[in-house]
Amino acid sequence: MEKRRKTKEIKIGSLIVGGENKISVQSMIKADPGDFETIKNQIGALKAAGCDIARMAVRDQKSVNTVAKLKELAAADRNYDIPLVADIHFNHKLAIESTHAGIDKIRINPGNIGSEDRVKAVADMCREKKIPIRIGVNGGSLEAPILKKHKRPSAEALAESAMHNIKLLEKFDFEDIIVAIKSSDVNTMVEANLMIAEMCEYPLHIGLTEAGPAHMGTIKNAVGIGSLLQKGIGDTIRVSLSSDPVLEVFEGISILKALGLYGKSIDIISCPTCGRCKTDVISIANELEKRIIFIEKNLKKNMKIKIAVMGCAVNGPGEAKEADFGIAGGEGEFLFFAKGEPSKKIPANEALETLIEELKRLIE
Ligand code: SF4
Repeated sequence: MEKRRKTKEIKIGSLIVGGENKISVQSMIKADPGDFETIKNQIGALKAAGCDIARMAVRDQKSVNTVAKLKELAAADRNYDIPLVADIHFNHKLAIESTHAGIDKIRINPGNIGSEDRVKAVADMCREKKIPIRIGVNGGSLEAPILKKHKRPSAEALAESAMHNIKLLEKFDFEDIIVAIKSSDVNTMVEANLMIAEMCEYPLHIGLTEAGPAHMGTIKNAVGIGSLLQKGIGDTIRVSLSSDPVLEVFEGISILKALGLYGKSIDIISCPTCGRCKTDVISIANELEKRIIFIEKNLKKNMKIKIAVMGCAVNGPGEAKEADFGIAGGEGEFLFFAKGEPSKKIPANEALETLIEELKRLIE
């Protein structure tokens, strides 16, 4: 694991992205921006799942009204209080109106906002209200001259577009910037981010775009986001999926956990099972995974717990020595062990609840 890249700190509402702050997990609201009730429910679900930043498409005045209502709701009920990002294309007036509605960050591509006067108007308003701008460069919406020069949305073309947009904002004295370069191709996304990481000190938002449905998309995002994080690159992440936005959050958190970057975590070590296994380890491990999601939030800061679910007592306790506690299957029963040392036998049908009870006891 390489040392984290040095980046500027950028404040988004109450959250700071960049520097040595935690790597935040984002998702995007998937509902009609005028449908307040559905959006409200999605925000509540995202917040409960551990999402740090929610983005919504702002495509018209109705969407701006929704932003204002969401900010009112957030002030009244902390279950809906989450830094909110307006995703805007082409229309600089919507960006300005979103700042008046209380938005916490604007995502635009300055290159497609139109004349430089319009970019300046957005930059001036965001500076006045201390609202950061995310430059969102995307393989599908590159500026025509850059695309013509590079012939295709290559990593070089994407990095050049990002620098072009950074310079455009800097020209108007605006440096409250987060940069995102996305592609649906893992290698292109990784290479472009490696390039831009060398060219500026702004925090990077990383992830694939149009990554695909849940399974395929998660794999692509995990490989792309994971390989950058492993090099110390990336300050905020989004696992974009053709799926429930809450799943995007769970998968994002899982990527951070896999690299030890999530601060607090419950990790499950479970064996793949083989012919020696005589109990239903697969069901127990999968059920445990579902149950820990909502327990994990109660962990103290930086607390890390490993639970093992192993198929047999011959190899299980030894192979899962690094687990805090776990079970190893026998004939209709499990052997419970802690730090590799067996302590008691438990009936197979009580195994899952025993693990949950032990987990709760440890975190109390
Ligand atoms: Fe097989 Fe036992 Fe290893 Fe599981 S722990 S894979 S059951 S040998």
